[in-house]
Amino acid sequence: SKSMLFYCREGYEADLAAELDMLSAKENLYGYAQFIPKSTLVHYHFYAELSQAQMRSAIALGDLIFARTRLINFDSLTFSNPHDRVSSVLEYLRENSLLLDGMFGDVFAEHPDHEEGKQLAKFCKKFLVPLRQAMRKQGSLSAKPNTGLPYLHLYFTQSNECLVNISVPKNRNSEPMGIMRLKSPADAPSRSTLKLEEAIRLFLSKQDQANCFQKGMTAVDLGACPGGWTYQLVIRGIRVEAIDNGEMADSLMATGMVDYHAADGFVYQPKDGHVDWLVCDMIEKPERVAKLMQTWLLKRLTTSCIFNLKLPMKRRFQIVDELLNEIKNSLEKQQIDFKMQAKHLYHDRDEISVIIRTSTHLS
Ligand code: SAM
Repeated sequence: SKSMLFYCREGYEADLAAELDMLSAKENLYGYAQFIPKSTLVHYHFYAELSQAQMRSAIALGDLIFARTRLINFDSLTFSNPHDRVSSVLEYLRENSLLLDGMFGDVFAEHPDHEEGKQLAKFCKKFLVPLRQAMRKQGSLSAKPNTGLPYLHLYFTQSNECLVNISVPKNRNSEPMGIMRLKSPADAPSRSTLKLEEAIRLFLSKQDQANCFQKGMTAVDLGACPGGWTYQLVIRGIRVEAIDNGEMADSLMATGMVDYHAADGFVYQPKDGHVDWLVCDMIEKPERVAKLMQTWLLKRLTTSCIFNLKLPMKRRFQIVDELLNEIKNSLEKQQIDFKMQAKHLYHDRDEISVIIRTSTHLS
């Protein structure tokens, strides 16, 4: 294949395209991005055929802020017989050598994540049932979902046509459409809680989560009210200094785990001089927030941090890229080992989420 396919939030195609151009140039893989605005989809075409190893590892999903998932793109498949689409897929699989590892570990029928695309959701769900059965019979799908194998992704833009793609282990989002569906906990004070939950689950493996969030750890939450982010920390047994001029939910204060201060998040300092985590969801200029996070890390006021950067109106990718590079350079200059990841999460609107881990939080 000479092309990859990436999904993003509706309206962010140009940002993802700019990001793909930059990353592919960095990796000396020349090509060009192609997209229709508001389609939620960006194609990246390479001038040269990629090797199998490159198809698996080049342009890593973890290095992309605006991509929800990363697919290796094959042809588009048109269904001439609407009564038997399953046979067309089986035939396609027989005739084309998509199978890198003998069989697929799962198969998804996906559609654009916008209002019009969602009308295909029911069709996709219904189509998957007989398709799974038939693929298992054909021997092209494992009996149970297997995350160690490539997945087949059929991307429908209408019910009689789909794009055929595969994703590979360790370089994909294993959720259909690259969307982490989360239920808002009944006792959480706000829906923002889902942003921090998604960030923790997406950025950290189960093992990293266990290592980085331990009972008895401490955190500062800047812009904490009404407490959705503090909630995520408290349920992990972490004591939180919650900073905001607003009101915290009573249920959180009642846990005895929260120390509330009506103060300015830009001047507050941790009580004991250091915390394990700094989290920040203040709605402020991204330049100011990035600088604040940088200061806390350089002064070793926190081991790690998770924060949001509100996206500017224009040159969204370029500006956040510059801000993140500034933090990176300053940490490197001070010889601080760190790991930074940034993503436009499903639960993020016009903002991105960033995690920076140092010292004992690196595994
Ligand atoms: N993370 C919170 C949650 O999950 O419930 C929601 C935070 S809300 C998006 C932003 C908060 O930042 C507001 O409550 C606002 O009062 C607070 N804020 C804005 N500027 C601030 C500042 N300079 N210092 C402290 N808090 C600030």
